[in-house]
Amino acid sequence: MPDGQSLNQDTSTAGNRNWAIAARGVRKTYAGTKKSPPKEALKGIDLNIPQGSIFGLLGPNGAGKSTFINILAGLVNKTAGDVSIWGFDIDKNPRQARASIGVVPQEISSDVFFTPKEGLEIQAGLYGVPKAQRRTMEILRKLGLEDKADAYVRQLSGGMKRRLLVAKAMVHSPPVLILDEPTAGVDIELRKQMWEQVMELHAQGVTVILTTHYLEEAQELCDTIAIIHHGNVVTCQPKTELIASLDSKMLMITPQNDITAAPDLGSACAAELREDGNLYVSYKPSRVAVSDILNGINDAGISVKDLSTVEADLEDVFMELTYGSDKPQVTG
Ligand code: ADP
Ligand code: MG
Repeated sequence: MPDGQSLNQDTSTAGNRNWAIAARGVRKTYAGTKKSPPKEALKGIDLNIPQGSIFGLLGPNGAGKSTFINILAGLVNKTAGDVSIWGFDIDKNPRQARASIGVVPQEISSDVFFTPKEGLEIQAGLYGVPKAQRRTMEILRKLGLEDKADAYVRQLSGGMKRRLLVAKAMVHSPPVLILDEPTAGVDIELRKQMWEQVMELHAQGVTVILTTHYLEEAQELCDTIAIIHHGNVVTCQPKTELIASLDSKMLMITPQNDITAAPDLGSACAAELREDGNLYVSYKPSRVAVSDILNGINDAGISVKDLSTVEADLEDVFMELTYGSDKPQVTG
């Protein structure tokens, strides 16, 4: 039955070209040593990364982000599972799979012996890009390094070195660019510059996948976000849906007269009196209605001058998904 066949496509990683990356049941256990026991870094990752997205793999340090990226890059062997890149299975078609991605690793190591231009030419040679098809100067220009083409790499600033790594990842014109913690440890200004470069590449049609432990970065840059925690994917959704799905909202209430303490509003709400004199009430929309909160406020003898909602952001989602299980719930 043709319908059944098309349904089957979504559950298999092979031959599905709608996903930039499709991963099924990916596990990785690092072998132990005399001093350390084996480490199960990935516990069964299922992920579909849409073509054309700016996809964020968000998670705290040690979550397993680099392990996953390094499996895609062919630098780490997975223990189990299937992965395809741009429709090519990494085990069955390793060459095509690898040709479909450019990877900027987390660790910066720059080749100090070659100029940016030479470095890109060498990289293109490694990928078997014929001389006539090389775009060395075009790539350097795109990444704002044109005037450094013949400079010593040691004369480049930290930001330029990072951009050079991106340039190197792009020499074979892969449809997918993967950046592992592109802005870890760089200052705000450099971070914004890097974001602009990434968005520029995305605007030119490149599917971008980045890992980050900065919530702000994922929120600012990514259209789709997966949160990874202890080697599991805890959610994977378009950013707007992810934020909208949060069962946690906040109201800001401005009292008519100064109050000295937050009222007790029951177990489904937590009220906090902040220094600005407003009362902030966080609540679970599935368990309590705004009208009940307002009745509670009224019963506590507080009259309301003004009322507004505080928009949720990724931090709220992240807290709920990654810390919710480890910490006692404020709202009981
Ligand atoms: P992230 O990139 O999210 O910070 P990693 O993928 O680097 O996480 O690490 C996931 C877990 O696997 C961590 O507990 C880390 O200590 C462990 N790990 C990473 N690389 C190795 C390795 N080569 N050998 C043993 N354990 C490792
Ligand atoms: Mg990492």
